[in-house]
Amino acid sequence: MANKIPEPTRSKKERAILIGIEIFGQHSFMTSEESIDELSLLADTAGLEVVGESSQSLSKPHPDTFIGSGKVEEIRLMASEMNADVIVFDNELSPRHQRELEERFKDDVRVIDRTALILDIFAQHANTREGILQVELAQYEYRLPRLTRAWTHLARQAGGGGGRAGSVGGVGLRGPGETQLEVDRREIRKKISNLKIEIEKIRSHRQRYRAQRKRSQIPTVALVGYTNAGKSTLLNSLSNANVFVANQLFATLDPTTRRVRLPEGHFCLITDTVGFIQKLPTQLVAAFRATLEEITEADLLLHIVDIDHPESHAQWESVNATLSELKANNIPVLTVFNKIDKLTNPDIIMEVKATYPDSNSISALKGIGIDSLLLSIERELFFNFIPVAVNIPYQHGNILSLFHDQGKIEEIEHQKDGVVIYGSIPARYLSLYEPFFIMETKGGEKPPKDDEENLISNEIDADEG
Ligand code: GDP
Ligand code: MG
Repeated sequence: MANKIPEPTRSKKERAILIGIEIFGQHSFMTSEESIDELSLLADTAGLEVVGESSQSLSKPHPDTFIGSGKVEEIRLMASEMNADVIVFDNELSPRHQRELEERFKDDVRVIDRTALILDIFAQHANTREGILQVELAQYEYRLPRLTRAWTHLARQAGGGGGRAGSVGGVGLRGPGETQLEVDRREIRKKISNLKIEIEKIRSHRQRYRAQRKRSQIPTVALVGYTNAGKSTLLNSLSNANVFVANQLFATLDPTTRRVRLPEGHFCLITDTVGFIQKLPTQLVAAFRATLEEITEADLLLHIVDIDHPESHAQWESVNATLSELKANNIPVLTVFNKIDKLTNPDIIMEVKATYPDSNSISALKGIGIDSLLLSIERELFFNFIPVAVNIPYQHGNILSLFHDQGKIEEIEHQKDGVVIYGSIPARYLSLYEPFFIMETKGGEKPPKDDEENLISNEIDADEG
């Protein structure tokens, strides 16, 4: 049944068959083979034992069963032969596809998709209260449209115990004239809205803390990058933090922050984040916003790229796509190529350096290139000033005083609706000042004084469009 995402604690490994379906003409970062390799690692991380694989190319999904009837039969036979418990589709299945497929496979074989698998891994790795609530919310939202009568019945039999992120238990009393299904749906909607309220409370508390951090002026650096790129390993070697490092996807879910001393004596906070992955559905990105908010609040991003991975470029693009989805594109980024110790051809490092002169090449594991990376971080955070022209309304006194404290003012003019400043600010504050940039207006007014300033405003302008 659709709900039975494997529980975090189980005695014997569940046996899984992986199915990769390539839909003709559908854009993807990876070939279906690479994607299914990744699915296999995901399944492994979730604690499943992969006992078989099958793939197919289709011109379009079948309206009922996603795959054609011949393929359904083939998988059914394979499942009974291999004694499989669960069929995992690499593609996102609609609730209807999932139901119809389970109907066809019978024999207690469950059908789940990539999203359900990722949700399960999130559930297993959430540690903070916030993380656990986020997973619970995402699970309910995933399950709501998949709710059927048989489904809830079994869900209650299975009991709400085991999983930390919980299953759908505790269904309330039936109202007059309501079917059980309606009651269940109503209960879940209520749970969803309560969860949202609670998460919002925790989030606003965190935000207050972050504002304090900004005021105390220890800048934050967020490690971003495709999952398994080496983010946690890097945080370990930077700070000797004991962050869990594992050759698994999403081994770390909750943000971990460490204080790091930079070579010239400044300090910064470095935060590890959840790994990015292709096909991470938008609703999941939204559900994990609070975790990912660490990224949007950061002063600098270190984008860690596994240089030795055959798909490193596709992974890079996929991370960038998620970053723009999070509206984090105004935060300065340092690109860090990791795992150079694995390269058999050292010329690649030279090539990469020539193509991306501002990048760093390191081995987080062997501690190569760490000192120069720390210098780059310090330079970016403390010595890189960007010229701006802003108009700050009087009610934003904190933004104004930050400019006085940290920026360099060339010209300042108190006007009736705010303070107009020409000057420069540390690059890490760019996103803070971005809402107050003076842009070129159609009316012909052209505030920035020289070409350099003009260029910045225009660049931001173009990014926004
Ligand atoms: P994360 O998902 O980005 O946090 O990645 P992890 O830090 O958990 O690392 C994933 C795997 O890559 C682990 O097996 C690490 O030991 C390995 N790894 C990380 N950095 C390096 C490196 O510089 N060189 C090598 N050879 N392996 C690395
Ligand atoms: Mg990690």
